[in-house]
Amino acid sequence: MPWIPRGLREGVVTSAYPRRDDGYGAGFSGTVTVAPDLGDAALVRAAAKACPTGAIELTSERPRLDRGRCILCGRCARLAPDTFRVDPGFETAAVARRALVVPPGDGDDAALDEARRTLAARVRVLRRSVHVRHVDAGSDGSEEWEVAALTNPVYDVQRLGIFFTASPKHADLLLVTGVGSTGMSLALRHVYDVMPDPKAVIAVGVDAISGGLLGEGYASGGGVAADVPVDVFVPGSPPSPFGILYGILLATGMLTASLRPSASGAPPEGPAR
Ligand code: SF4
Repeated sequence: MPWIPRGLREGVVTSAYPRRDDGYGAGFSGTVTVAPDLGDAALVRAAAKACPTGAIELTSERPRLDRGRCILCGRCARLAPDTFRVDPGFETAAVARRALVVPPGDGDDAALDEARRTLAARVRVLRRSVHVRHVDAGSDGSEEWEVAALTNPVYDVQRLGIFFTASPKHADLLLVTGVGSTGMSLALRHVYDVMPDPKAVIAVGVDAISGGLLGEGYASGGGVAADVPVDVFVPGSPPSPFGILYGILLATGMLTASLRPSASGAPPEGPAR
């Protein structure tokens, strides 16, 4: 039984996040940041053209990038490195779809604060322990690997009072992956309807947020928000298990002073110029 000496040798591997930063999350590609200035306009145009999901919008001053459509392929950063940069990190989830677009527009900050307050008040009773129902609404399977990893010894979300349940009637959180395929629309809505209140919905991955590479089409709703009211959006393709965990903590208001996330996971302001 080689796993016994191995286990003794390696000791405790379970992450201490969010109580403490143990460096596990630094290895994940987290998000694309946009420099404060336009940079070389020709390169930026080439990067926008090369983006497979149309996540980059060109404006006269500075390009805007929709993290809810970005699959983190890195093409833009290779073509226009002075303007775009792929950064590590995982605390990228947001409580509003518009918060995934950078740089933010006028009035976004106030709207976000309001969205955060409303959600926190609604799910106040969920802070001690939550049960999560996961529904695959047309995923390519990549998000499922990351969701499944949450219960392994490294992430071990049970230590935080987070449990997966097979029954939507026992669930507080609905975790949805996939593009929101037409065939799953009714089933997804039914799962949401039978969950008791209060409840919250988390869209996991850019497929669930915007349809990803498929976008909107005859078999895809362009994201799951067309079927259920999404409270938290977790970008990434797929997001890391830490990114999903951050989304769950955000949705339940568990990010309190006693369970603080590390500041190091937050995406930085933009590429160094
Ligand atoms: S990293 Fe994101 S924004 Fe950049 S080209 Fe790829 S999908 Fe588009």
